Amino acid sequence: ALAIPAAVCMLQEQEVHAAEMERTFIAIKPDGVQRGLIAEIISRFERKGFKLVAIKIVVPSKEFAQKHYHDLKERPFFDGLCDFLSSGPVIAMVWEGEGVIKYGRKLIGATDPQKSEPGTIRGDLAVVVGRNIIHGSDGPETAKDEINLWFKPDELMATKPLSREEIAN
Ligand code: ADP
Repeated sequence: ALAIPAAVCMLQEQEVHAAEMERTFIAIKPDGVQRGLIAEIISRFERKGFKLVAIKIVVPSKEFAQKHYHDLKERPFFDGLCDFLSSGPVIAMVWEGEGVIKYGRKLIGATDPQKSEPGTIRGDLAVVVGRNIIHGSDGPETAKDEINLWFKPDELMATKPLSREEIAN
């Protein structure tokens, strides 16, 4: 049989691993930014062991907020929610790691901070549902859609090794 050098095997494994690695969209909403909770929130994801692969600060337009929350457009709080999301700077992030979508939601806690467990971000740091400081994708499909809405592909860290062609260009 053809012997494949160990280094090549490792590279291939790494590539497969990177291609399958789960990612989620996390945003610190304007209230979290205004209250000075950026570092606190990022550090909880970092300490858990998840990896930050994209981050930017943006003030979304109301139209953009409506796109982000399109699933909720029939809800009575939709308009106020979109006004609020577009009222100031948001920290938009993509986090990567095994189980990051589901576990990210665990770190965040229940939607209503009165029902979030102590130890969660909302449980420890928020009081009312309309000011619950953080957003996290609720499943694989929304994670993909939200990452694509907020980020261009070249804003995401490449976690797989670059090909010869990419290095040359
Ligand atoms: P989550 O953010 O936990 O995924 P939802 O997708 O149900 O929760 O709702 C999106 C956001 O809408 C919530 O994070 C919260 O800011 C806001 N929201 C949800 N329910 C209410 C409500 N009853 N009144 C006001 N705002 C709400």
